[in-house]
Amino acid sequence: MHITEDVLESYELRSLAEPAAEAVEEHLLICGECRGRAQTVQAYLSAMRSGLRRLDHSVVWWQLHLTDEGLVEIWIQKTPQGRSVSHRKRRCFG
Ligand SMILES: [Zn+2]
Repeated sequence: MHITEDVLESYELRSLAEPAAEAVEEHLLICGECRGRAQTVQAYLSAMRSGLRRLDHSVVWWQLHLTDEGLVEIWIQKTPQGRSVSHRKRRCFG
């Protein structure tokens, strides 16, 4: 039995009740596969956080894509001159 992505996400967000959190922790110690997926979830959550942080008034559009090359963050920003500039950043994990 492996840990589901939902549970890993709750675990990383520290919103898992104590006995469950302990079980996840123990499983991660012995299972490399779930450790790898936990890292992916971590990368996703931190990308989300930094993406949301970037949602100031100059960012007009922001999206996060899970692709074959990893997580790709794409956003469009308006310059003070009124020009739209698109940005693309790959986030590595694993
Ligand atoms: Zn596992």
